[in-house]
Amino acid sequence: MPIEKLPGRALLPGLVNAHSHAFQRAIRARTQWRAGQGDDFWSWRQQMYRAAATVSPDELYAISRLCHLEMLRAGITSAGEFHYLHHGPGGERYRDRNELALRVVTAARDVGLRICLLRAVYARAGSTGEPSPAQQRFLDGSPDEALSAGEALRGFACGRPEITVGLAPHSVRALPRGWLGPLRDYAAAQGMPIHMHVAEQPKEVEACVAEHSLRPVELCAAEGLLGDRFTAVHAIHLSEGEVRQLGGAAANVCACPTTERDLGDGVVPADRLLAAGATLALGTDGEGQIDLLEDARELDYHLRLSTGRRAPLGPAGGGRDSLARRLFAAATEGGARSLGLPVGALQPGVPADFFTVDLTDPSVAGAGEDDLLAAIVFGLTPRAVREVAVGGRILVRDGRHPDEERIVAEGGLAMKTLWARA
Ligand SMILES: [Zn+2]
Repeated sequence: MPIEKLPGRALLPGLVNAHSHAFQRAIRARTQWRAGQGDDFWSWRQQMYRAAATVSPDELYAISRLCHLEMLRAGITSAGEFHYLHHGPGGERYRDRNELALRVVTAARDVGLRICLLRAVYARAGSTGEPSPAQQRFLDGSPDEALSAGEALRGFACGRPEITVGLAPHSVRALPRGWLGPLRDYAAAQGMPIHMHVAEQPKEVEACVAEHSLRPVELCAAEGLLGDRFTAVHAIHLSEGEVRQLGGAAANVCACPTTERDLGDGVVPADRLLAAGATLALGTDGEGQIDLLEDARELDYHLRLSTGRRAPLGPAGGGRDSLARRLFAAATEGGARSLGLPVGALQPGVPADFFTVDLTDPSVAGAGEDDLLAAIVFGLTPRAVREVAVGGRILVRDGRHPDEERIVAEGGLAMKTLWARA
């Protein structure tokens, strides 16, 4: 392989985005206003469902590709796509039951991003209430239907090392308890990652207690889901016992702070989770903005606001870059562990997924060797990302992807077409 010299750059392992819903890129900015008295997560969800109810396979591809391009440009080289759009509007099955999942996977691969498709499983609107029209697109008829779709996706990924598959029981709200065992057993037999939205909203916790007399993490523990292949996404409204359960099982917790602040979800108790033994990962989730280092710094900033202390996630007495190292690890190694990917570090035997930073960019200029990582974690703008490579292949050069103009134009057009109809 030819040697490329990149003077004036810092080279870092590629960021791993452990929780994404690429199609939600289409609702960016469309929810940033106050419609009435009670705007909250649930009213935001109605807007998201409007997009989900109508998006076509071609639009999904174009919007996802734009979203994945934006990720690459921010130094993200791997994404965990928590994919729950499976069927046509109204719930009719596509001839290929993985039509929409494959559109998202293809969108990622067409820009060069590494993708772990977390095939979501969704059975119901909740323990009471009928599914809305949008939710018809998410529903599986049985655990077997979901698992056979997942099996077909694994067949597609076989021999394509930049595509992997995981399972994602959507949430305790969306699944009856009896579905969790078969999903757990299949994932265990195949060594697959399992992701689940957990305790994002107090209402979800209350409904879980009412139905099962258990809180969400307690239910996951009782069903044998917790372990190092399990990722609890959000994990905000936790009891002390649940924090101990996640930590004791060496589980992963994927925080999505820029989305959590957007939706008013609350603050991830990352300090307590770390102390208990959990591994932290980060996700861009609702794609309101795509800047995983903003999620990294926000994880600590949210705790500062709620505790009145500075640097609560920093190891006590650690060096000047010790907090930055910890947050950067969540954005790289933590995400890699959560998705079961052999990435997240620059070392022999690991795929060369990396990004470079222009050291003359105003956002990091003046940093020295001992505070460069802190300057990057706390100050870098995605504008300063110059080269991005996946598996040793440079995809972004000098801040541009070769197909950027077309991808942006087609993604933008797909969003306008979608909203003209929705
Ligand atoms: Zn999510």
